[in-house]
Amino acid sequence: MTTTLADTLSGQAISDHASAADAAARRGFGPRVRRLHGRIGAAHHRAEGMTFSRALLDGQASPLQLAALIRALGPAYALIEQRGPELAAALGATDLPWADLGRSEALRHDVALLAGIEASGPSVAAAAWLEHLHTLAQQEPHRFLAHGYVRYGGDLSGGQQLAQQANAILAAHGLPSLRFWQFERPIPELKQALHDAIEQLELSAAEEDELLEEAVVAFNDTQRLLAELGELATPTATALAATRSQPDLLPLLVKYDRPVPRYTSYPTAAALHSGVGSADLASQLQQPSTADLSLYVHIPFCRHACWYCGCNRITTQAGSTVVGPYLQALAKELALVSQASGRRRRLGQLHWGGGTPNYLNPQEQGQLWKMIEDHFDLAPDLEASIELNPEFLSCDQVLNLRRLGFNRISFGIQDADPRVQAAVNRIVPVEQLRRAMEWMREAAFESVNVDLICGLPLQTPERFAATIALVQELRPERVSLFSFAYLPEQLPLQRKIAADDLPSQRERIRMLQHAYASLTASGYDAIGMDHFALSSDSLALAARQGRLHRNFQGYTTGGEHDLLGLGITAISQFQTLLCQNQRTLKGYVQALGEGQLPVERGLLVRDPEVLLRRSIIQSLMCRFAVDFDTVALGQPLAAQRQFASEWADLQLLEADGLVRLGANSLEVTEPGRWLIRTIAAVFDPSQRRQASGSRLI
Ligand code: SF4
Repeated sequence: MTTTLADTLSGQAISDHASAADAAARRGFGPRVRRLHGRIGAAHHRAEGMTFSRALLDGQASPLQLAALIRALGPAYALIEQRGPELAAALGATDLPWADLGRSEALRHDVALLAGIEASGPSVAAAAWLEHLHTLAQQEPHRFLAHGYVRYGGDLSGGQQLAQQANAILAAHGLPSLRFWQFERPIPELKQALHDAIEQLELSAAEEDELLEEAVVAFNDTQRLLAELGELATPTATALAATRSQPDLLPLLVKYDRPVPRYTSYPTAAALHSGVGSADLASQLQQPSTADLSLYVHIPFCRHACWYCGCNRITTQAGSTVVGPYLQALAKELALVSQASGRRRRLGQLHWGGGTPNYLNPQEQGQLWKMIEDHFDLAPDLEASIELNPEFLSCDQVLNLRRLGFNRISFGIQDADPRVQAAVNRIVPVEQLRRAMEWMREAAFESVNVDLICGLPLQTPERFAATIALVQELRPERVSLFSFAYLPEQLPLQRKIAADDLPSQRERIRMLQHAYASLTASGYDAIGMDHFALSSDSLALAARQGRLHRNFQGYTTGGEHDLLGLGITAISQFQTLLCQNQRTLKGYVQALGEGQLPVERGLLVRDPEVLLRRSIIQSLMCRFAVDFDTVALGQPLAAQRQFASEWADLQLLEADGLVRLGANSLEVTEPGRWLIRTIAAVFDPSQRRQASGSRLI
């Protein structure tokens, strides 16, 4: 039987789902039900409702939470039972014992029994779920039935045990027992009937896939509800004082909770394909230009892996044994770039990223700097920046980087709490962070950036507030604050992080709001989506002057520069060409050995409509506004006519207070800034077809 509300609440199912016993049980299922279980099992890794699940199992859930649960579930069950029989029969499933499975009658009874318990406010998660169900009932009945299957499946699986737990808690408070999880017919018989009905559904291959996809949505709907309940009575989850006055973003984030790109480019890197290669980059480089270039160099090596990492990196202790050949490969790539360009170009910006650029020892760093100088002129006001891992940093190394010519430096703190650091395998004592900052000041770097990540395992609002206090003390010129994207299916390393160690969505919002409030109250300007800069910093200045730009490195002041990427996986960005280097070391070295620029894939962007959409998305991401009179480079366009369907979507966003629409303009509101990627996605047709990217928060 599938695992949802009931067995999520019974706790063990979260981990048992992938157990041998569970796998054996699944062998008796029909093919469709087996596939459903596989999908839902995978979704368990991202389960959000664990706090409440554990509390209930430990007898810690409160009557207030149980009453909120019963009240929140009622309307959705009522709708499933009202529309389900007719929709299931229309798809060929005529034998479902609705009357015996139906829970809404019992729910009504239980709600009446719990009438004496105070209301805890409307459930945002339940309201969003109900609205979604109404839409499915009208438009996609097979998806609607996935919710029925997931709901009843969960109730039948862990229902009896759960009823005992819930009723024990209520009895301890002198409250009456509930009927919700009691069934009149034997459970195995009902499970079998439910399975048979699901196998009976007459579906096309596409509908079958959609049924599976929707089962995960249904599971997640439950998880959101449980996460919300977990917040109701958890004393440690009380809001931090600094965030109490801020708007409640959770309802909006729940409503718009779809994956969206980070829009470091438009079209996004997902659109790159192998039909574009080295000849396209060579032809781009041949085009005459006197403009400065921005150069990115990727150093992929790391001494160990941080478990949250989503970067392209090679973990190795081999040191110079691997660095030497890599520098030789970079030398070949530089030579090929110069050859294709036919003349020397000048660099206005230089950035070394990774991986870990300080994996290179000072001598190797000097060698790489010289190789770059051999092929490019350096602008007198060159912005030269480097990313560092502070774990292995020394004062000499910092001074050496400054002597080489770097004037900007960036290092990752992520979270300063030792428990969080241990949970992600990246341990840097606070004293080392303080020392690193002192060395950077001593070396007179013009600008220091620190990276933080919100949403890491074992992070709490209190612990993260301490990290923000440390940042205020260190006072770097810039702060990048990213939301952790937990994608264990795509990034196997992240499987070392237990889903139930992650903070809830509400906690993540609190941490972000607190960081925003604290940093902006202590001299930082909020820049774009996830950056902060001291008001005197060039990034803050560029933002105030409307010169901010966004590329694969994030927000930058050098929007006028083409970006050329060197090294494994590096991405180059030109006005009409995006391309990415080979993503394996073997492929990269092999292409260079054949005398080819090592491009693996790319995209030519020449369609004026795509370029226009890019300008609009850039304007949103960097300025939080679009003036349609000027966004198309001086050619006014009538947005309401030219982007009629987008305008209709914007009106819905306006109704939720996320944007303000003018006659031919658009402005993002303060709450809308948290959902800027969702607003930008309105102008991205590929997102309209299929949502992709990472979660909002
Ligand atoms: S140092 Fe950076 S690139 Fe290397 S594993 Fe850690 S997060 Fe990933």
